[in-house]
Amino acid sequence: MSRWRAALVPLAVVLALAFAGSRVVDDVSEAASSADQVQAGVQQAVRPVANDCSGGSVVFTFDDGPRQHTGELLDRLRDLRIRAVFFWSGHNLEGRGDVVRRAAADGHVLGNHTQSHANLTSGVLPSGATVAPWGAEQIRAELQGASDLLERHGAPAPQYYRPPYGAVNRQVDDVALSLGMRLVMSYGHEASDGLVDSHDTEGISAGEVSANVIGQLRDGVIITMHDGLGQATLNSIEALQPIVDEMNQRRLCATTEVRPDASGRVLQFGE
Ligand SMILES: [Zn+2]
Repeated sequence: MSRWRAALVPLAVVLALAFAGSRVVDDVSEAASSADQVQAGVQQAVRPVANDCSGGSVVFTFDDGPRQHTGELLDRLRDLRIRAVFFWSGHNLEGRGDVVRRAAADGHVLGNHTQSHANLTSGVLPSGATVAPWGAEQIRAELQGASDLLERHGAPAPQYYRPPYGAVNRQVDDVALSLGMRLVMSYGHEASDGLVDSHDTEGISAGEVSANVIGQLRDGVIITMHDGLGQATLNSIEALQPIVDEMNQRRLCATTEVRPDASGRVLQFGE
């Protein structure tokens, strides 16, 4: 072994040790880095609607509550910074002043979904029974009953209504207009009407719900979802984050202001 080689061997050992040491340091810093990422990931687990409306705005609506998962839905909407329009039925509002006050305090708009979830054009109730006779007086009672309960629980008088099953005609709308309410509907219309049905009551997954909405997402649309019973509502709650992610990509924000041109065409029904 030459003197040079003899000198190089310990140098190589020193370099190897130094390299190994640096790897240890790198591992530590990588571990710290990934810990930071995990922490950041936890902090970013909820990605709310960005405060950027340059791409326009959409309206989220939820029918049929308040029910068993309304508290979770309100929590999720708060975390995602979404203010929505709820269409609630009077028969679900008895003794629910707490949830009415919370929804109103959170900035949501409370709309009318009739007292008993009646079909307003036929008088058929959810039980299958038919109210007879059925006319303007009965339609008025169905709408007024839900509005009275909302107001009794401290909510403003509803300005919007959505007829159960999408059942609406000129007579129904005339009564509602006389009570100061405008129709916000999402059934029986073409996608070009600016109304998006999530189909979230049809036993589909959260991914399918979000895909249905994202596929029609654009400025001015009204998104229809449900706050009903069971897994369907939990799926709808889960579907909100991917919808919001897409909204942020397109710089859409959420509003409770229903554009007149988004619901005006429904006044053409039944003629
Ligand atoms: Zn309904």
